[in-house]
Amino acid sequence: MTHLYSDDHARALDAADPLRALRSQFLIPQHDGADQAYFVGNSLGLQPRGARAHVEEVLDKWAFDAVEGHFTGQAQWLSYHELVREPLARLVGAKPVEVVAMNTLTVNLHLMMVSFYRPTAQRPAILMEAGAFPSDRHAMASQVAFHGFDPATDLIELEPDEPNGTFSMAAIERAIAEHGPRLALVLWPGVQYRTGQAFDLKEIARLAHAQGAMCGFDLAHGVGNLDLALHDSDADFAVWCHYKYLNSGPGAVAGCFVHERHARSDRPRFAGWWGHNVDTRFRMGAEFVPTPGADGWQLSNPPILGLAPLRASLDLFDQVGMHAVRAKSLQITGYLESLIQQRLADTLQVVTPAEPERRGCQLSLRVNGGRERGRALFEYLASRGVLGDWREPDVIRISPAPLYNTYSDVLRFVRTVEDWRNAA
Ligand SMILES: *Cc1c(COP(=O)(O)O)cnc(C)c1O
Repeated sequence: MTHLYSDDHARALDAADPLRALRSQFLIPQHDGADQAYFVGNSLGLQPRGARAHVEEVLDKWAFDAVEGHFTGQAQWLSYHELVREPLARLVGAKPVEVVAMNTLTVNLHLMMVSFYRPTAQRPAILMEAGAFPSDRHAMASQVAFHGFDPATDLIELEPDEPNGTFSMAAIERAIAEHGPRLALVLWPGVQYRTGQAFDLKEIARLAHAQGAMCGFDLAHGVGNLDLALHDSDADFAVWCHYKYLNSGPGAVAGCFVHERHARSDRPRFAGWWGHNVDTRFRMGAEFVPTPGADGWQLSNPPILGLAPLRASLDLFDQVGMHAVRAKSLQITGYLESLIQQRLADTLQVVTPAEPERRGCQLSLRVNGGRERGRALFEYLASRGVLGDWREPDVIRISPAPLYNTYSDVLRFVRTVEDWRNAA
């Protein structure tokens, strides 16, 4: 097993990587004249080289065509969001009518809850995970209060039952059964941002529906990471952002899924003119007739400059397909885990579940010895051009992104931690 640790082995894995050509499609940040080992795609994915051309195309069209840009050329702004629909549907395993790129994640979460969280006195509650990303909790708590209910009793936060702060499926099942008759909505992450745990979405949706609750997913850390089958998961809705594993730039336009069975829903929604049926939108009538499908939840004409980089990113995912991305992810994260177990067990403890089907690419690593020591290691890594990210109180997240990270990057991370440990 020691050969895992050799440079030759890492190089051989890189040479055999079917995705190896994609790395050159990204701009890799530099450190001391060499590529950084960038493991923070879970926070902000790297810039695809193609992004600039798509942004410049929009700027040029605006410069030369101005208002006519809405109607000229293949990338006309009137239907610009259509350009990403099919690749996005392929990426998340949905039908084209089920997906739309719009707004930002938290906005989409609110819009989806307006339609799919309809609390009643008998059934007022939302079930979520304790320790969720704060924005999700703020969104849910404020929705509960908005409807006149009390988050203290009606926002149910399930505590993790496993030692590392992860959830067993049995605990989720018990909670859904226990609160079932009071649950209006189960809202769960695809991948938990802190621990990197991935969940069986289909099973969670099945359990929620069996209790008469709606089910939605936050896929901020799941999209471009897991090989999703959203349509088959049977979720009612899902939301995600495009700046993490989707590499579409800071604050990029986000994504939203609404299951086909709600395509012609007359549920309440917050409406805007861009959700109005495109055939009659420009008659500027007073009545709102939603476009069937996820498109019907759009509010405004989309920020075209914010959408442009997504086209470049989806091109790259389309070149190889999400199955291949996930296949490499399993291998490269497995390699990282093996090296940590072999070489760094005295320094780092893997918080993320060991079963590959219960995680994405990210490993959350608790630094033995507490916060001070953890910060020292984190800062040492950064000073050596190895970038992870920090989660209080003592966790470093390392996310090998299959599109641009190499096995040599992973080995470099392990060697750099060893250098730090040996110097201490
Ligand atoms: C990244 C992330 C967000 C960020 O929300 P924005 O609306 O894009 O600012 C929210 N929730 C989760 C779970 C995230 O991972």
